[in-house]
Amino acid sequence: MSSYSNWESYFPELDPEDIHARVATMWDFSWAYPLPKRPPMCGCGRREWHARTWGFTDRRRGEAGLRVKWRCNVSLKCAWCGEVRTWGVPVRDEYAAERLSWTELPNVQWREALRVAEARGFSPTPGA
Ligand SMILES: [Zn+2]
Repeated sequence: MSSYSNWESYFPELDPEDIHARVATMWDFSWAYPLPKRPPMCGCGRREWHARTWGFTDRRRGEAGLRVKWRCNVSLKCAWCGEVRTWGVPVRDEYAAERLSWTELPNVQWREALRVAEARGFSPTPGA
């Protein structure tokens, strides 16, 4: 049996609300920028990550058929082995528009994210 026997799952046709519902089970949107609800397991077996960047991209610019336009590319680095991972988190249009209005550039470095969070009345540090 091919390891690609579930190949259909690579090409889902999900409703946007289904996409947002799935994403909301994994990502916490209560802070200024998305963070994982539970730190993912790194390849080295640890779950301690340092925030790197949040970058908002308009995915519909190139593909008219996309159902969710905006992604927030959340980049974290393992505090032990240095592995860098980036997740392309689908976000709602209003969520992206609000965040894009907060900074000059669509890519936000972690220090800037902390400044923005504090200035906007979010807890200075996530989860605090
Ligand atoms: Zn690691």
